[in-house]
Amino acid sequence: MNDLINVCIDIIRSIDPYKKDSSGAIASITELMWPKGTTIKIRFLEGDPNVITKVKEKFNLWLPLASTLKFEYVDDDSANVFVTFKENKGHWSWLGKDILNNPEKKPTMNFGWPHDRQIPDEEIERVAVHEMGHTLGFIHEQSSPKADIGWDEDKVYDYYKRTQNWDREKTFFNVLQRYEEPVTQFTEFDPTSIMEYPIPGFLRKNGQNIIGGNKLSSMDKKFATEKYGNP
Ligand SMILES: [Zn+2]
Repeated sequence: MNDLINVCIDIIRSIDPYKKDSSGAIASITELMWPKGTTIKIRFLEGDPNVITKVKEKFNLWLPLASTLKFEYVDDDSANVFVTFKENKGHWSWLGKDILNNPEKKPTMNFGWPHDRQIPDEEIERVAVHEMGHTLGFIHEQSSPKADIGWDEDKVYDYYKRTQNWDREKTFFNVLQRYEEPVTQFTEFDPTSIMEYPIPGFLRKNGQNIIGGNKLSSMDKKFATEKYGNP
């Protein structure tokens, strides 16, 4: 149960940040960042009204930082972000402006919490702020070029095979692979970032747990303000 809750996939569809062209250049995920001043329209396709109210509240925690952006909650297909609550389907979001490339108006974000349980406020905050972070174009902290998690790779492949039924390729792509330096603007690895999911110690060579972020860290705030705050 907790296994599932700790998994998140940021989905990039229109570009492959790992694929190099013939000149060796890397497609940039910086191109998935929104222009300052953008209004992002969000539609909830389903969900418990009380949970939706809380999720909106948590999404909005980005706004004092990303102060040039606006969120508009709509109830029609003019939306950019389409949110579903398919339980046990994991938490995930498409990444940044990639969500504009969605003619079929498919869901772009899912919350996989079980429907029969009351989800604590701090869990809603941890996940909703994180997923909105992906929508704003932020990648997993563990994928940062500066991240040195010290994975015990055999255990990682075994763990995700067992708990998610992921093959090696999917696990490599979602967990182990890091973005290369020129693609991102990371300064240093921040283990308390909201974009860092918890990593159990048994998946690391040094055995130490990474607790991960529950809230926007001071570096998250700085980064969001740099990217989307007032000039
Ligand atoms: Zn994620």
